[in-house]
Amino acid sequence: MDQAVSITSGPHDEIRAEVAKLCARFPGEYWRKLDEVRGYPTAFVTALTEAGYLSVLIPEEYGGSGLPLSAAAAILETVHACGANGAACHAQMYIMGTILRHGSAAQKQRYLPKIASGALRLQAFGVTEPTSGTDTTSLRTFARREGDTYVVNGQKVWTSRAEHSDLMLLLARTTPRDQVAKKTEGLSTFIVDMKAALGNGLTIRPIRTMMNHNSCEVFFDNMVVPAENLVGAEGRGFRYILDGMNAERLLIASECIGDAKWFTAKSSAYARDRQVFGRPIGQNQGVQFPIARAYAQMRAAELLVHAGIGKFDAGLHCGEEANMAKMLAAEASWAAGEACIQTHGGFGFAEEYDIERKYRENRLYQVAPISTNLVLSYISEHVLGLPRSF
Ligand SMILES: Cc1cc2nc3c(=O)[nH]c(=O)nc-3n(C[C@H](O)[C@H](O)[C@H](O)COP(=O)(O)OP(=O)(O)OC[C@H]3O[C@@H](n4cnc5c(N)ncnc54)[C@H](O)[C@@H]3O)c2cc1C
Repeated sequence: MDQAVSITSGPHDEIRAEVAKLCARFPGEYWRKLDEVRGYPTAFVTALTEAGYLSVLIPEEYGGSGLPLSAAAAILETVHACGANGAACHAQMYIMGTILRHGSAAQKQRYLPKIASGALRLQAFGVTEPTSGTDTTSLRTFARREGDTYVVNGQKVWTSRAEHSDLMLLLARTTPRDQVAKKTEGLSTFIVDMKAALGNGLTIRPIRTMMNHNSCEVFFDNMVVPAENLVGAEGRGFRYILDGMNAERLLIASECIGDAKWFTAKSSAYARDRQVFGRPIGQNQGVQFPIARAYAQMRAAELLVHAGIGKFDAGLHCGEEANMAKMLAAEASWAAGEACIQTHGGFGFAEEYDIERKYRENRLYQVAPISTNLVLSYISEHVLGLPRSF
């Protein structure tokens, strides 16, 4: 592989090398088979869990390795740079951050060691709803307090991994929107025991999507959640969710950097090798330049990803960097994917090359977990001081 697109160089290079070894056990054929049947990569997720990679952000006192976000980013970037897909499990790394930062001592003791060992999977994040979309504070799912419990009614959409998670972090209204001073108030965060709730007020319906993502619709019909599962204070859940989102954006951006490296390594190798008109296609600048441009875009985005992670790990506010890094890394990886398909000509469309699969998988990151327009809106309002538009 090219020096320029080495997948094991960067911060935490030893972890990268080990993750790359693990990923080599799960080659393109493994992912292609799952893609065909929209299956869950259980063996891959188990291997990552057993190697301790999904619990790197959990402090040592709770059984994790207490590493900074930069380590989680190195793991996910490498997973993607190896042609694998971290979407099946990346949320196991960061959703627990809400419990870690805002949960009670009892909640941390009860859940974190089991999440660290893999005995419990907390990788379902119930925020998006069909009617409110990006306008999160308009969500309608309501949790009504009844004695020692909350009774939840409503619906979520695009709850990824819902069928493969034991727990869900749920955002629901606990005070109607017209009874709070600010629309961000009156929302609360709950830990839902999905296995206990399934069939007892909780229904999960998978959504078939253009890539293998295990995303679902989730319905709550008088689902009972013990009051002790409320995270932090009632009514402050929006804030708790928001402060985990920068970590999520930086980790997804790292996955995009990994995708870009995978695409670029493939493009360069093929362009050097493929002979048309008696010479390598990569000798034509028309073939070289899109690959080179996407590579330059990736390297620029990578700097911003590292800047955001540096701030996050230093405990500094990193909203500007996290948002921009996610947007630019998603665009750079998409450009690298475009160049990769074009470089491969017809073969770019053949399933056995894995390019069309990675291309479909990568497209998501311009929409989720936050769409490009909403990133631009964040920069406009919060960085440039332009008037708020909604
Ligand atoms: C495969 C997949 C997995 C996902 N996983 C999860 C998950 O696990 N948990 C979860 O909670 N959510 C999840 N999501 C939801 C995801 O975060 C949302 O789809 C995304 O935030 C966009 O919201 P929306 O689909 O409701 O689009 P909408 O809010 O309906 O927006 C549609 C389009 O309009 C644009 N738009 C809307 N308002 C404005 C505006 N004011 N100015 C300019 N443009 C605007 C948006 O940018 C977007 O392009 C997932 C989505 C997908 C597709």
